Amino acid sequence: MGEYIRGVVVKLHLTPEQEVMFKKNYGCTRKTRNKLLNKYKAKYGEDSTKIPTKKELNQFLNESKKELPYLNETESTSLQQARDDLHKAFTNCAKSKRHNPPKFHSKKKTRLSFRQTTRKDKRPVENNTLTLRKHGKVTFSTSVEYLDLLNSPQTKFNNITVYYDGLNHYAVFNIETNPPEQLPLTEKHIGCDINSNKNGWLVTSEKQKEFFDVDHDNQMIQHINRLMSKCRNKSRRWKKQEKRLQKWYNKRTNQLNDYIEKLTYQLVKEYDTIVFEKNYSTIKILIGGEQNMIFPLSRFIQRLKDKFQLYKPGADGVQFVKSYNTSRTCHHCGHIKQELDVKTRKYICQKCGKVLDRDVNAAINILNRWFNGDSLKNT
Ligand SMILES: [Zn+2]
Repeated sequence: MGEYIRGVVVKLHLTPEQEVMFKKNYGCTRKTRNKLLNKYKAKYGEDSTKIPTKKELNQFLNESKKELPYLNETESTSLQQARDDLHKAFTNCAKSKRHNPPKFHSKKKTRLSFRQTTRKDKRPVENNTLTLRKHGKVTFSTSVEYLDLLNSPQTKFNNITVYYDGLNHYAVFNIETNPPEQLPLTEKHIGCDINSNKNGWLVTSEKQKEFFDVDHDNQMIQHINRLMSKCRNKSRRWKKQEKRLQKWYNKRTNQLNDYIEKLTYQLVKEYDTIVFEKNYSTIKILIGGEQNMIFPLSRFIQRLKDKFQLYKPGADGVQFVKSYNTSRTCHHCGHIKQELDVKTRKYICQKCGKVLDRDVNAAINILNRWFNGDSLKNT
């Protein structure tokens, strides 16, 4: 069996001393990255696209440690990881246009984190205690299922990332373990229509309609923002509300992640093939809030692909078809309506007289297009 790499997140419970040490470690990691990037820019110029060698970056790291002696007080593998991350950012940027050149990490915009390597001779986890280099023993809480996994002798630890979300500290274990059991093929296939209307952002040819609602969270966030604007900036009351606000932001993000994980698992379990229109990436589904959060469609599709690979490698999985007339065609008789208003939810066929749900009809057309061999490979 192949090795299966996955991440497991747990919540950490720090002593006040550890809290101070962790914050230093976050700061030093960020400082190191920025310092190395600065040295690179000083050597090659502001807009250089040259990829620095690992050796070169390491030299920069050694110089930085001499210039800023306090870096030596923090955990050393996390600084090496920051160096490796920067190298990876340069390589990624050279490889694909989707990646931007590495930027400086600002205190406000970047999530505070550091990553340590694990020791080969000693397991980092025992029951609910994690032993980190330099920081010592930290207790954590997680589900029984994860606790078993982390304590299983079959689990190998690659590295551990620690991060702070403004409220709590978490550890992400990068582990190698046995792959999960595969799901049986069901011989069932569906088409999916993705919409930005209120009739469900995802409608399937099996009439499943998906809604994602964070209205209540958005209202709370708005409400707390209003309260904060009435407090004196950075006052005690303001800070109390700021913590509350962070809690709601975190809740909204967690809800979205949970929703995507559950829905993708359900679809992969139930179907062997899931067909979409190719133009899905041009559709924007707003889920509201003051920053006008957009539903992460490409992440949703990627999670489907990942889960097919993991649980049903033998299935056709995610497929795409060309997007033309999928809403205008009657799936029953094939008649193409010339005019169809975006607001019309019912599709009434002029030829065969069938009354269809507009989105379900489109989803069926998408599926049929794939059945007819019209699939687009490698999109
Ligand atoms: Zn018809």
